[in-house]
Formats: sequence, structure tokens, C-alpha cells
Amino acid sequence: MNKTKVALVRCDTYEEDKVLKAVQTGLDLLGGVSIFAKRHERIVMKPNVLVGTNPENCVTTHPVVFKAVGRLLMEAGASVYYGDSPSFGKCEFSVRRAGLKRIGDELGFSLADFDAGRQVSHPDGLLVKSFVIANGVLDSDGLVSLPKFKTHPLVRFTGAVKNQFGCVPGLLKSQYHVKLPDPYDFATMLVDLNTLVKPRLCVMDGIMAMEGNGPRSGKPKKMNVLLFSSDPIAIDATACRIINLDPAVVPTSRPGEQAGLGTYHIENIEIVGDDMEQFFDETFEVIRTPPMPCTGSRLRTFVKNRICERPVINKAKCTNCGTCVRMCPVEPKAVDWHTGDTSRQPTHRYDRCIRCYCCQEVCPEGAILLESPFLGRFFSRA
Ligand code: SF4
Ligand code: SF4
Repeated sequence: MNKTKVALVRCDTYEEDKVLKAVQTGLDLLGGVSIFAKRHERIVMKPNVLVGTNPENCVTTHPVVFKAVGRLLMEAGASVYYGDSPSFGKCEFSVRRAGLKRIGDELGFSLADFDAGRQVSHPDGLLVKSFVIANGVLDSDGLVSLPKFKTHPLVRFTGAVKNQFGCVPGLLKSQYHVKLPDPYDFATMLVDLNTLVKPRLCVMDGIMAMEGNGPRSGKPKKMNVLLFSSDPIAIDATACRIINLDPAVVPTSRPGEQAGLGTYHIENIEIVGDDMEQFFDETFEVIRTPPMPCTGSRLRTFVKNRICERPVINKAKCTNCGTCVRMCPVEPKAVDWHTGDTSRQPTHRYDRCIRCYCCQEVCPEGAILLESPFLGRFFSRA
């Protein structure tokens, strides 16, 4: 059986010439850029933009990595497009804030339509049989995924597989949290989405990663690595191994293998390029326990409220902006001004909360932290 390749290339800076050289090396290790882009093809790059912030915050794919990949795709003769559907707001605004629009304008990459989409059936999906996909992805010949190396409370690690969630336009994304509140169902949906949009190539920006309270409010962490693969499961599994996170804990791994998207088993992965050991960091802050299946029966809901990490507002940081309230996808809202007094900070109602962590993801102040209830701490130690 052919092993799936993941290329690792050391890069300890965002200096343009060094990143370009590292990206060229990574693509050469996989057989060269021409495998992923042909002359006259329309290739769309999908960086992780989330809501668009300064690249130094390590929330978004760094513009220099985006530039290097786009440049090589162009040199292969492709027409290069790019975009992402952010958590809220328009694509153009978010890519501008993330420093990507300036690069796109400079090099002639075109902004693709990620604000609207079309329904596409997916009969082979394990769980989800149709999706609305952004027009910019549907109108392309191929998708190149540019994830950021980050933590995520729901799926533990957000890399290549989760990055494709931004191919679903606008607020439709939050509806998946409501329809699929169980993290394992949500992860299977992400796998289905990937088998539908089929990224040709994933290039993960792990030069500076994010640990702790990701995907928006964690701490930058220097990891000095760029990862390359056509297999989104294998590239995520390799990043997980680097930070001593068992890939089997990440809920996209098993359905990803079941769906034929890729493999997370080390014996089926060939690491090429730099030795993986040199990047190992066991101190990287990430939740290393598997997510709890969270929904279903009343008993499960009871158990969930005593075990799953819950979002908690740090009152000292909260500016009462209301973003968390607007983005909470459940009705009635699980985070709200429950007293009706909007001059005071919102609070959580955990009996309504499905633990999707959208509020934590969008809080612009990093004021929402995750707290393990007593039983959750007990079981994670067990
Ligand atoms: S999004 Fe953050 S800062 Fe804004 S109200 Fe919610 S907790 Fe406070
Ligand atoms: S309160 Fe936060 S974690 Fe709970 S359902 Fe609302 S957005 Fe999701």
C-alpha cells in the first residue's frame, strides 16, 4: 500500500525570501507544484481568516505564506483566486484585516465569492448528504487549503480539515452547530465537507502557531514548521504528533479514515523533509482528552453539564460588546443579557448551552475562557 506523504520544512521566520524557499522545498518534496496546478486552471486558495485580525495575533494564515503559495501556483500557469467565509461579516472585509487583500492586489490574485453559494448534493457523505458551498469554490478547478496551526476547544486541533468549514458561506455555518451539537457528528460533517470540496493540497502555517485558548484568543507559539500534504487527515495527525496530542483524540480522524479522506495512522504516513523530532513540543498547551459526546438524552445533557468544558466570561476583560450574544446559535440564547439589562455584561445559561464554543471563538477581547467542571477535571486526570 502506498503511504501518504507529509512534508515538513523548517522555517523560523516570516521573511519573504526564506518562506518562499521553504514553500518551494515543501512542494518539491511532494513532487512539485505542477502536480497541484496546471496551466490555465482556476485555483482557489483558502487561508484561515476566521474574522480577520493582525497576522501577529496568529489567528490567521500569515500573508507571507499565502503570498509564497500563490506565487508558485501562478508560476505554474494557474489563475489564482482566494477567499474565506469568516465567522461573521463579509469575506472582503476580513481578508483586508488579515493583510491578505494587499498581497492579492499586489500579485493579481482575484477575490473569489465566499459570501454566497449554491446547494450541492453529496450522496457519498457519511452523515451530511448536501451542502451549500461558496460560489468561489464551486467555480474553481481546484482548492488549495492554507490552514493555521491552532488549538480549538470543540475538535481540539484546527488544521486542514476544519479549515474547509470556511467553504460554507455566511451564517449557514452556525446552523451546523445547532443541527449537529455532538462533537463527533460535527466532526463527521467536516469530513463530509472535505470529501465534497476535495482540497488538492494543504499547506499549514506553523511557523508561529497558537496554543491555549484558540482559535482566536490563544497565545502565539513559535513552532518553526511548515507542513505540506494532499491528505488533510495525515497533515493534521502529523501536527498533532508534534504537540504530543494523540490524533485519535481529534474527532475528525476516525471518520476521515472511514470516508477515505486520508489516514491518521503513523504506519501509513511517510514523513519527508526535515525530521519530525526536531519540532516536538510536549509543553504546547492543548486539551489532550477526547471531547465528550454532548447531546441526546436528558441523562447525557445532565452529564454534559458536569463534565464538558464550559465557556466562562472574564468580567475584567469583557467590554459588553454583545458579539457573543449575536453569534450564539441556539434559541433561546445560551449567552445573553438574561436579566434584560443590556448595560450589564452578558452571562451564560449552561442548561441551554450546546458547547459549540462559537462565543469563545468570536469574542474580540479574548474574554471567554473554558473552564472544566469538577467532574470533568476528575475524569481528565483518571
Ligand atoms: S463577545 Fe466578549 S467582550 Fe463582547 S460581550 Fe461577549 S464576552 Fe464580552
Ligand atoms: S453559549 Fe457559547 S458555547 Fe454555548 S451554545 Fe452559545 S455560543 Fe455555543
